[in-house]
Amino acid sequence: MSPRRLGDFALSSVVETERALFDTAMVFPHATDDALKAQYDWMLPLHFVPDTRSLVLIIQSFLIRTGRTTILVDTCIGNHKPRARAHNNMQQFPWMARLHAAGVKPEEIDYVMCTHLHVDHVGWNTRLENGRWVPTFPNARYVFSKEDYEHYLALDRDPEKGPATLGAFRDSILPVVEAGLAQMVTGATALDESLSVEPAPGHTPGTLAIKFESRGEKALFCGDILHHALQVYRPEWNSFACAHAANARASRRKALEHCAAGALLMPVHFGAPFACRIESKGGAFLPRFAG
Ligand SMILES: [Zn+2]
Repeated sequence: MSPRRLGDFALSSVVETERALFDTAMVFPHATDDALKAQYDWMLPLHFVPDTRSLVLIIQSFLIRTGRTTILVDTCIGNHKPRARAHNNMQQFPWMARLHAAGVKPEEIDYVMCTHLHVDHVGWNTRLENGRWVPTFPNARYVFSKEDYEHYLALDRDPEKGPATLGAFRDSILPVVEAGLAQMVTGATALDESLSVEPAPGHTPGTLAIKFESRGEKALFCGDILHHALQVYRPEWNSFACAHAANARASRRKALEHCAAGALLMPVHFGAPFACRIESKGGAFLPRFAG
């Protein structure tokens, strides 16, 4: 995504991966062949690969430069992290080079905001230094959902269920908390006059909808409230990773209604060009990709 303006802000993306390795039936158990074929005209080739029935799911971070602060939303999978799943395991992505290419050094990040604490949204929170995980962004305040933190802390401590989030909780969350850089938020919270978070539970217990506003222009960073643009058409489809089905559907609908009222949708995992406007028509929603 080339940088775009939103009021006084500049929005850009730092992509980690763009891969079609997620089987549609696994991600969306409700998706039938007929329902998928009805969407081929816009899904092919950037969002879906019909031969393998695979969804294209990008993993990326968003950068927001307000002129006063530099904000990073979601931090992908990260490098050198041991994970049980091959596509996440011990990766060496050129993400850091891409952050530099976007004109930002790690020490210049003022806020790191994680929409939720899943493995593909927290990875660059830390980096390996002399065998230890240390915060990648030493001058940042890391904004985490208190509900998610407490939920995954309890899971992580449970010898039957831990380690939580494939190990990401231990190597990408706890080192930030131990360094004193975490700001836990609960409930709707205004971080400054243009930046706020609201609870959007369902995908995880503490998922946050991140809202920006500048000179009347609005954007919503939705994390995994929506995984794929298919869910704009089918907001009742939860992904396999949604923890609470009814809450996930309610949060998705609320996010789409907010965008239909004028906010630009900034989804982490949609195929290019990611950002879209949402049109509401006869009770249905339609994505209008914004380039
Ligand atoms: Zn995700």
